[in-house]
Amino acid sequence: MVDGDNIEAVCRAFSAHSRTRRCPPARQSKAGVINCDLGMSKPFDIELERLTSQASYSEIVRGVAAGQRGTFFLETFGCQMNDHDSEKVAGLLLSRGYQQVETPEAASLILYNTCSIREKAAQKVFSRLGEYREKQSEGKVIGVLGCVAQQEGEEIFKRAPWVSLVCGSASYRKLPDMLTQLEAGNQRVTGLDTDTDATFETEVTRRDNPWRAYLTIIEGCDKACSYCVVPFTRGPERSRGSDSILKEVRQLAELGYSEVQLLGQTVNSYADPTPRKMRFSELLLAVADVQGIRRVRFTTSHPSDFTPDIVEAIEGQPKICDHVHLPVQSGSTRVLRAMQRTYSREEYLEKIAMMRDANRPIAITTDIIVGFPGETEFEFEETLSLLEEVQYDNLFSFKYSPRPNTPSLSMSDSMLEEEKGRRLAVLQDRQREIQSAKNARLVGKRFEVLVSGKSRRENQWSGYTTSHRMINFASQERELLGTYVQVRVTGASPNSLLGDHAV
Ligand code: SAM
Ligand code: SF4
Repeated sequence: MVDGDNIEAVCRAFSAHSRTRRCPPARQSKAGVINCDLGMSKPFDIELERLTSQASYSEIVRGVAAGQRGTFFLETFGCQMNDHDSEKVAGLLLSRGYQQVETPEAASLILYNTCSIREKAAQKVFSRLGEYREKQSEGKVIGVLGCVAQQEGEEIFKRAPWVSLVCGSASYRKLPDMLTQLEAGNQRVTGLDTDTDATFETEVTRRDNPWRAYLTIIEGCDKACSYCVVPFTRGPERSRGSDSILKEVRQLAELGYSEVQLLGQTVNSYADPTPRKMRFSELLLAVADVQGIRRVRFTTSHPSDFTPDIVEAIEGQPKICDHVHLPVQSGSTRVLRAMQRTYSREEYLEKIAMMRDANRPIAITTDIIVGFPGETEFEFEETLSLLEEVQYDNLFSFKYSPRPNTPSLSMSDSMLEEEKGRRLAVLQDRQREIQSAKNARLVGKRFEVLVSGKSRRENQWSGYTTSHRMINFASQERELLGTYVQVRVTGASPNSLLGDHAV
């Protein structure tokens, strides 16, 4: 998918759990059952137990049924990690007796989980808060979570005095305390520390996707890319213990999840804090070994920490998906240095060669920023030539957006928006051609697909291959959601495949 400068759309689309498949805020239809649409023709019921983990099911149901603490509406913007943070925040609230509702009108607590990776995303937050202004006078509590909360801090109270709670993602473990203060009538509560070595683990996670579970294994970021707000908004890197990760994966498998996706801004920088000191590749293998787990995904990998043992793990264990998202950002070593990306074009290409030499084909996708301060036409062409050389399976591309607190803010950003837009369009056109040609070569091949969507059109289904290609296919079967089927490819477009159920 080539998605213009819409970073949220990109993060979502690349994610295994795209916004189009986002479960709308769950409706409680009967005790212990969530009614979920998942953008499909017909809603279907999922037992609440299947949407949770590490949970005492009866406790949740008791709390929800009691509904002692009112209702909450939670809206999420941004990347897959934000989506998953929201799943954990929702679980936390459900376990405290709040009930999730579909509209701000029906809620006593309105939460907005935000993204500030580029300017437009941050601006959107304040326009949305404006819409909530009169809600406070109706007695509703309004809270801002996530990256904008961390970045703007108490400024939010000045710009939007109707907000009562501001909590950055590095402080989510303080949310229960903050909620207690709000329940006690406190008007203003904040959680803005980033100097933490703790990860955000919850007893209950209200998972949106009934088949694929997300698990953050590393939070924050210790890299210092000169354009990026993440180290400021998500705090320093901290990894979750391998024992706790594996325990949760076992619980997820028992609950019927067959695919897990390990998340982190630099997921492969994982550093196990337990005495076991599992390497990232060992963790991948251990997760794949859990009975009931059929697919293991991971995102996002940083090129500098992408080591041969990760490729060996993919080669040796078919349950580890044959897809690596390895953001390059630029094809020019000079620009990479200015971005503080810690590798050169040649070093990046060595990582690609390592994957191309694997005994199993590996799909490779990337992120690219065009119009970084000082990027010359020649340097932009170096990025185009990298595209030719690597032949990516998918690409997410962005116009450079200057962000507060970042080192690149002080670099001269004199390129006109028009020129940034031109470069983006040229890059995307070229990638579209590459994807068209690559996907056309897949016609006639068979793939295993995890079925995750049912079209409103009869007998039409959709799902993902292990290489994370979206495939729409026809089948006469009555119920396929959540199952793995063989699909033969009959047609291709740049962003998806067409096929028939092969029995
Ligand atoms: N940790 C990942 C990595 O190292 O590649 C990136 C995470 S970031 C949420 C996703 C993508 O947003 C980045 O890969 C980059 O392409 C893009 N991005 C980050 N900051 C940006 C900025 N200031 N302007 C434009 N794009 C940006
Ligand atoms: Fe941002 Fe760089 Fe960290 Fe990725 S590795 S989150 S781009 S600072």
